[in-house]
Amino acid sequence: MSVDIAPLVDESTRPETSPPASSGAYEPALESIFDSVRKSHPDTDFGVLRHAFEVAEFYHAPQTRSSGEPYITHPLAVAKIVADLGMNEPTVAAALLHDTVEDTPYTLEQMTADFSAEVAQLVDGVTKLDKSLYGDLAKAETIRKIIVAMFQDLRVVVIKLADRLHNMRTIGSLRADKQNRIAKETLEIYAPLAHRLGMNTMKWELEDLAFATMQPKIYNQLVQQVAAEQPARERILAEIIPTALASLESKGIKAKVYGRPKHYYSIYQKMVVRGRDFTDIYDLLGLRVLVESESDCYLALASIHSLWQPLPGRFKDYIVNPKYSTYQSLHTTVVGPQGKPVEFQIRTREMHRNAEYGVAAHWKYKKNPTGKRGTSRLDPMDLLWVKRLSQWQSEESDPSVFLDYLTTDLASKEVMVFSPNSDLYFLPQGATPVDFAYSIHTEVGHHCIGARLNGKLVRLDSVLTDGDVCEILTTKSQDAGPSRDWLEFVKSPRARQKINQFFSKERRDLSIESGKEALAKQLRHTGLPLQRILTLPYLTAVASKLRYADVPALYAALGENKVGAQRVVEQLIALEGGKESAAEESFEDRPLFATPRREIQRTAAAGIEVEGDPDVLVKLARCCTPVPGDDILGFVTRGQGVSVHRRDCRNVQGLLASPERILGVAWTADTRTNFVVTISVEGLDRTGLLADVSAVLAEDKVPIVSAQVQVGKDRTTHMTLSFEIPDPGFLHQVIKKVRAVRDVTEVRRVNA
Ligand code: MN
Repeated sequence: MSVDIAPLVDESTRPETSPPASSGAYEPALESIFDSVRKSHPDTDFGVLRHAFEVAEFYHAPQTRSSGEPYITHPLAVAKIVADLGMNEPTVAAALLHDTVEDTPYTLEQMTADFSAEVAQLVDGVTKLDKSLYGDLAKAETIRKIIVAMFQDLRVVVIKLADRLHNMRTIGSLRADKQNRIAKETLEIYAPLAHRLGMNTMKWELEDLAFATMQPKIYNQLVQQVAAEQPARERILAEIIPTALASLESKGIKAKVYGRPKHYYSIYQKMVVRGRDFTDIYDLLGLRVLVESESDCYLALASIHSLWQPLPGRFKDYIVNPKYSTYQSLHTTVVGPQGKPVEFQIRTREMHRNAEYGVAAHWKYKKNPTGKRGTSRLDPMDLLWVKRLSQWQSEESDPSVFLDYLTTDLASKEVMVFSPNSDLYFLPQGATPVDFAYSIHTEVGHHCIGARLNGKLVRLDSVLTDGDVCEILTTKSQDAGPSRDWLEFVKSPRARQKINQFFSKERRDLSIESGKEALAKQLRHTGLPLQRILTLPYLTAVASKLRYADVPALYAALGENKVGAQRVVEQLIALEGGKESAAEESFEDRPLFATPRREIQRTAAAGIEVEGDPDVLVKLARCCTPVPGDDILGFVTRGQGVSVHRRDCRNVQGLLASPERILGVAWTADTRTNFVVTISVEGLDRTGLLADVSAVLAEDKVPIVSAQVQVGKDRTTHMTLSFEIPDPGFLHQVIKKVRAVRDVTEVRRVNA
């Protein structure tokens, strides 16, 4: 998206029906698109394409590109690229409209109505998730959105690549830093994406444009060097081509033989990656042989091998094992004239079209079984690479991590490995059975205990090679996990990440456990009431005060000795209002489950009248949690207002020792407010018991404000749950339901 946004079209000027006829200035560009479409899809409805152009021209009318040209020149150019790839009418229409939704007031709803859901879906795939987002996260989200759209329809990526190609062709008019950023992203994501989808002409042009942008000096130097070498190259080609043609003809093979153009970026890469110099690389001549049939490919190979000595280890059969599921060809390198190595790529014309256009070729001249042109659907999941990506995508919720996988995956050279039932997997060079296991599924990786390679048991650090059949042996054990040693040899970022994740989770769990122990021990040491102080709201408050994300993070820090238990205890006591107040349990049991302020506000409105002083702060004592109807009395606390107890509360006897602090209180008529009650639940210890009890409360929309669980030595669980109920009569119903939960042995309201 390289556009200077001019003021957008005013909503009120939007036409009721179709936009006015265009000026005609773009008629030649439009005709040229029609010509391209006509070649592959003669039956196309060109009225639809013209309409798409008119809508795009109308909505983009106020906008110009950075170059100063009218914006519409960009969608026209993108549509031309898409049409040249042989794409069909809805795809070309979507290309013309691809920036309208993102950059103009035109909406997907209008597009669906004006064109079709198909066109709108394609445009939606290339439209940014949220226009207001910028930066790395927005980039990750946008790419993830395109990839997800690709799982449904590969044409989304074809349009996006065409869009990027035109932006790269016109990148010169952007600011230098912007140029660099876009070129880098093109090299890291879009060119490799084109490569994976077999769209090689697209890939080469993207690479060379990005290379020229990022390394202009080196690029220009290479251009000059290639030009200087060209005459010598032509002379050798003039020797090889007629010899090859004559040999092929003598065997009755109709063929076209020609020198393969070199791409500057691939020369540069070989120079950098393999550390070789220009003459070495440029010396290798590449020729292509196009023949009529697959059997002719092998005949041509034999013929070439009879003319020149093949170099051992350089023959690759991508006809039987297509690369990335789409690329088919025979590759061989022979010792040519003057002892120079010559690489031949032998393929049929159809394979060639697939090699140049990749998945895009699928829509060109394609007939489905009904004989209708251009309508057969290519299921993206037929491409194993796409299938693998979609699996990762569904497992990884963080878009930046997913982008990381994608980038690494796109950058790596691969080996092809088969599962025992012949599913093909691509793994990074040097990958091991463990990488293979994790590429099948995270759990297969975690449970992997051995591997068979081509039927033989092998070590888990064995290196996989092209064509291996790998079988993973797994254990059924629930708590199986990876071995730390695996990190020494795994090659795929995914396996590495999953193994690390496993260990960091395990380590964290241990830290949390020992953190809990340390804190409980320290609290016992102070003699303070554990149950009252170790509550979620207090711990949450301390965690945030000490700048930890949440309570588990606080425990983990305690367990790792990053924070002292004494320091946490001090903070907890401070929250409780000083040590004296914290110890004052028998008289003044304060609410545990909310910040004091919130508690006062809620219960002040709880419908209690205080004798002689209507404005005094009132709260319900937690020790007996009175509900309307209970016989109650008030107790004047030190600075915390009046605390309301049930008359039968175990603490009342103590309170009566200070008769001057006792006040008469009464329930008002209005009892709509929620009340907090606490129940105690006993049960047999089992995983999920608390979850089951909580589920029962959730069913009745009863919000739990605090929950404490203690497991006894005799396999019993004791839970103390506090929750809010709107109506005291409700409590009976809740207790009955909790009692019905499997393995619950006793439920009662916590009384004084
Ligand atoms: Mn665009």
